[in-house]
Amino acid sequence: MPAGYKHGDTPAKAMVRGTISYLESQGLPVNKSAIFRHFELSRSQGYAALSASPKPKREDPEWGETRGRPSKISDSDQQKMEEILWDDKFEDVSLNWNGLAKAAGLEMNCNRRTLHRTLGTLAYRRCLACGRTHTHKRHREKRCDYARKALMAYPLLEDWRRMRFSAELHFAFGLDGKMRLTPRAGEKLCSSCAQQPGLDWPRDIRRLHAWVAVGHGFKSELVFYDSSTSPKDSGTMSMADYCDKVLDKVVKPWLTAGGPGSFILEEDADVFAHGSASKVNLAQQWKDTHGLRCTFSCGESPDLSPLDSLVWPAGKQWTSAVLTDWQDETLRRAAREAWAGVGQDKIDMWVDVMPQRLQQVVESEGRMVAW
Ligand SMILES: [Zn+2]
Repeated sequence: MPAGYKHGDTPAKAMVRGTISYLESQGLPVNKSAIFRHFELSRSQGYAALSASPKPKREDPEWGETRGRPSKISDSDQQKMEEILWDDKFEDVSLNWNGLAKAAGLEMNCNRRTLHRTLGTLAYRRCLACGRTHTHKRHREKRCDYARKALMAYPLLEDWRRMRFSAELHFAFGLDGKMRLTPRAGEKLCSSCAQQPGLDWPRDIRRLHAWVAVGHGFKSELVFYDSSTSPKDSGTMSMADYCDKVLDKVVKPWLTAGGPGSFILEEDADVFAHGSASKVNLAQQWKDTHGLRCTFSCGESPDLSPLDSLVWPAGKQWTSAVLTDWQDETLRRAAREAWAGVGQDKIDMWVDVMPQRLQQVVESEGRMVAW
């Protein structure tokens, strides 16, 4: 039995439930027989699927929450803190997690880690639907500093054309059969967009994780580094896997082909496996041994990575492709097709405006660049 759904369950049964729950949530008429027929289930199979309907999310480990473990913080408290994170009045206030809870008027009875896990990041918010952004003071300072240094280290367009921007992509597959990319920590829906129907993110039923790199005139294959497609798996790569499955198997041949000076690998500073947290580690050793030129991204800045901005459909969701099953090979095919749809011309254009983007970050005192 594939991980992610119940014993005796099938994607069709899960989709029947998903379809009915969607129609009900929208107040639309529900014709059960027609829905069973559409998914090629008999009446008894259909009703069996419904009676197997999920227990409340939090008691059912098979279904899990979309992201992370169940929170110890109530929904209304979360909302109060989320509002602060979107509030321009607080953009210039230096808040930490405790300060945030206090500003939201909450008793501080949960620890930093819990707040972090629940709210993702304090650094910024970007609405996946309308693009509204809010960048926190301390993060703006960090971004300004990064942009200035990057412009000094790589002042020429040619420097950026040598850059290969890398990232892990986390594809998520919903009960509705659609595919999405898991948003970054600060990418959410703002309060007005959250009220619009159809924009919310349903629970993931499967996930697929791939490493990629892009640059001017360059686009790697998807490197699937995690054999698990469980919805509980966040796709966090280990450093050993990064060294073995990515640096050794994929990046090394590029070095052999073009020579050590032919490109600079840009790595996501927020991912532990890349080795940004310390000077001495396996990943850094690998880079030294093989003469890999690399640089870390600013971190928590989707506007400064082509793999977070521009190249994806709106809201990081594909509306056209609907999967009929969740077999590993089907998931991989869907991800490969989506990746094939990312045009090189778009990437090239993005790379060529990178110096201007950084300049804009400096001029706007660290604010997020719109796209
Ligand atoms: Zn919005």
